[in-house]
Amino acid sequence: MPYREGSRLPGERASRLGHLEVLKSDLVRQLCERFEDNTVDEPTTIPVWEPLPLGGSPLPIVFGVDGSLQVVTSEAPPHMALAFVKTALLAVDQYALSRLDKDAPHPFALRDILSKSAQFHATVFPLRHVSVPGMRNYDAVRQIVFESLKDPTLEGEPFETLKWLIYEKWSERGRNLAPFQCPHCEQEVATLPYDADEGICPNPACRGKLFVTDFLGFHQEMAPDSAPESIATSYMMVHETLLLFTAVRYFWQQQRQVCKRRRVASLHDWSGKNGSFCRSPAIDRAACAFRVDLHPG
Ligand SMILES: [Zn+2]
Repeated sequence: MPYREGSRLPGERASRLGHLEVLKSDLVRQLCERFEDNTVDEPTTIPVWEPLPLGGSPLPIVFGVDGSLQVVTSEAPPHMALAFVKTALLAVDQYALSRLDKDAPHPFALRDILSKSAQFHATVFPLRHVSVPGMRNYDAVRQIVFESLKDPTLEGEPFETLKWLIYEKWSERGRNLAPFQCPHCEQEVATLPYDADEGICPNPACRGKLFVTDFLGFHQEMAPDSAPESIATSYMMVHETLLLFTAVRYFWQQQRQVCKRRRVASLHDWSGKNGSFCRSPAIDRAACAFRVDLHPG
């Protein structure tokens, strides 16, 4: 406990890490010192500014997606934990926004624009020590993913988008589902007929029930009765990606040629620098296949 400031001497500053026994390493000592050092580092690299390209025309259709995740843990043992996931898709209504007062937009006018152009989705995952009677959390999470993507408030559109991507329904020929790891027998033999929502593992020794959402591989991250927080994070990123592609699918189906030429021109920008859309390799592969069709060669 540090002594307090007196009339003649300043107060003592207690080190927050000084009492900890840590590895006697110069590197660890430097890390602890840096943690307690309040000075802010000067930027070591000079930012490289790029000129804003002029010309061209504004994108006529702009969508934004985002998600949030909150883990709630009960205070009493056994510390049950649930993860709440929320995602939203917002279409930027440029005509409606142009009619707003740019300096002091009326909050009710903003609310009206949002209510017409935003779609929301929310779901919950059991992480630890909380379960549905008679059901393993492993299977509960698989079923929650399946039912959440079919969310009736979004009229099941993200689920249809998942099938549109993984069965390659955007191409005329379509594609059967590539074999994936069965959540029951763990063999890489699980598959479903074209466009199916559910099915049965073809392994005669297994015959376990499959959801098309098992293709996303969430079960590969789980233990029988607990799920890591990364399940909720992965779901949030998958759902954000599916919301975005739901908008793409809508325009693709309505105005395919226009979509090919102009309206999905920013598709490359949506992906990360490594070309990854989200944390699901299955969605990444499906989205990249769509991208190759959009920009062949
Ligand atoms: Zn199986």
